[in-house]
Amino acid sequence: MKVIRAKSAGFCREYAVQGKRPVFTDGPLIHNSQMMEKLESEGIREVGDYTSQTKLDLGLSAEEKQAAVMVVRAHGISPERRTYLKGLGMDFRDATCPDVGIIAGKVKLYARKGFNTVIFGDPKHPEVMGLMGYTEGRGHVIKTEADIDALPPLGDKVCMVSQSTMFTFEFERLADYLRQKYPEAQVFNTICGATRERQSDVLVLAEEGAEAIVVIGGRHSANTVKLAALVEKQELPCFHVETAAELDLAQLKKYKVVGVTAGASTPGFLIDEVCERLTEL
Ligand code: SF4
Repeated sequence: MKVIRAKSAGFCREYAVQGKRPVFTDGPLIHNSQMMEKLESEGIREVGDYTSQTKLDLGLSAEEKQAAVMVVRAHGISPERRTYLKGLGMDFRDATCPDVGIIAGKVKLYARKGFNTVIFGDPKHPEVMGLMGYTEGRGHVIKTEADIDALPPLGDKVCMVSQSTMFTFEFERLADYLRQKYPEAQVFNTICGATRERQSDVLVLAEEGAEAIVVIGGRHSANTVKLAALVEKQELPCFHVETAAELDLAQLKKYKVVGVTAGASTPGFLIDEVCERLTEL
């Protein structure tokens, strides 16, 4: 079997905080359980909930707090959450992805100018919940045309952004729809470069002759699930796995050329294992 690995597969960012101090993260640092297990074995502990909303009771003494570090995940957080975490009395490190920081900056700027913000994304995703915190109470999350129809009248000042990991073609379609209602809307396609590249690489794999595509990544990882949906949209068989152990080798054996791609939070060692297993076939 020939195995084609997408250029963009896997980890999009290195994490800044490593070392011997106790490290806490406000929710899972990344949506990949294998990587979270690895991080835990290195002393990085996930506290808080997926959406970074609940109060944290770490039960640490003043001394222990002094030694510990609290890390903000790549998804970012709302300004309120930032103030809360900073007030916990621990060293504070912000690992918000710069691409998410740029979206937050845009939302903040336009909210200050009195704009209503429309965010294309998943209302329950921590990135979107964090961004909503910058809208000065005038934020609306949409996923479909029907959601746009259901918006209250937004007036002349409307700004639209996207969660960083959405589909570009859906964003453009919804932006056009929004512009029909609000021709003056300020629209910013804030889907990050890494996501766009991963999406276009699926098309490249199909062009290069992949008869089926293996997508590696967490089942709770929004961008991995989207990649799998994009493969299905190309009408190619899709095998979404978290690890090499989950590969359906009996089925995969049927194909001569198999493409491999992976979500943003999939570490390289998992991709290597999958590629090795497929190459053995
Ligand atoms: S997927 Fe995009 S926004 Fe998310 S961490 Fe990677 S580069 Fe940043």
